[in-house]
Amino acid sequence: MRLPLRHLVLVVAVAVAVLAGGVLVPMWRQAVERNLDARADPHHIAGNLYFVGAPAITAFLLLGADGDVLIGGGDHLMGHKILDNVEQLGFERKNIRALLATDPHLDEAGGLADLQDATGAELWASDANADVIAAGGFNDPSIVYTPYRLMARAGINKYRAPRVDHKVKDGETVHVGALALTAHITPGHAPGCTTWTFTVRDHDRDLHVVHRCGLELPYGASLTDPQQYPGIRSDFERSVTTLRSLPVDIWLTSQGREYGRFRKYEASLKAEDPAGPFIDLEGYRKSIDNAEAAFRKLLAEQERK
Ligand SMILES: [Zn+2]
Repeated sequence: MRLPLRHLVLVVAVAVAVLAGGVLVPMWRQAVERNLDARADPHHIAGNLYFVGAPAITAFLLLGADGDVLIGGGDHLMGHKILDNVEQLGFERKNIRALLATDPHLDEAGGLADLQDATGAELWASDANADVIAAGGFNDPSIVYTPYRLMARAGINKYRAPRVDHKVKDGETVHVGALALTAHITPGHAPGCTTWTFTVRDHDRDLHVVHRCGLELPYGASLTDPQQYPGIRSDFERSVTTLRSLPVDIWLTSQGREYGRFRKYEASLKAEDPAGPFIDLEGYRKSIDNAEAAFRKLLAEQERK
C-alpha cells in the first residue's frame, strides 16, 4: 500500500516533531545545564599563586599574609564556583581583600558582584572600565557591531553590577600587605583592558607573572573608520608594544584555552618542578605575534576596500 504524498509529509512532520520535542530538546537542555555547572579542579601554579576558575574562564588567587587578591571575576554563573574552589584548596573566602578586574565584558566581570558580596573585598578597575563595570556592562564602547549593540541596549549582556571601590591608572600598583600588583592599561579588546603584573616567590626564585588582558579585537570593529571605538588602531599597536616590554616567566589570560591552562596543569602534575610547565615566555610571545598578525591582516583587508 502506498501512502498518498500528503500523508507521507504528515507522518514525517510528526516524526520530526516527536524527535525534536522528545529527544533533541531534552538532550540540548541537559547539555546546557551540564555546561553551566561545569567545574574545573582548582590547582597550584607557583609560589602563592593558584588557579580557582572554571574550565573555560579563569580566576586566580594570590595569597598574602595580610589578605588575598583575586584576579578575574568570571561570568555571572561563576561566582560561587570560584568561592567553592578557594575553599576546596583550604583557603578562606573572607581573606580575599581585593578583586582585580581585567575587562568589562559579561564573561570576565559578570561574577564580580557575587564575589564582592561573599567576600567583602574591594574592587579595583581601570578608569575606562570602571563606569561600564559599575553599570553592569551597560554602554560598553567595546561592543561595536550594530546587532550586538542593539542586543546590549536590550540588556542581553548585562550582569549584576558590582561596586567599583578604586580606579587604577596605567602603571599604578595595588598593595595588599606585601602583595603588589601593577596595572598596565592595554586597550584594543576594550578601552580599559587591564593587564596585571606581579612577582611570586617560588622556592628560591622570583617569577614574573603577567595576567595579559585579551588581544582579540571587538567583533565587527573597523580599524580604518573606527566611529564606534575611536583610536582602536593606535590603542592596539601601543598595547602590543607594552606587552612585549614586560618581563615574563608565567603568563595567564581570562580564557584558559589561550594560555594552555589544562595542558600545563596536566604536565605540572607529572613534572619534577610543578611550576615548570607554567613557565612559558615563548608561548607568551607567540600569543602576541599571532594577535598582531591577525590585526595586520584585518587592517590590510579593510584598507583594500
Ligand atoms: Zn573580553
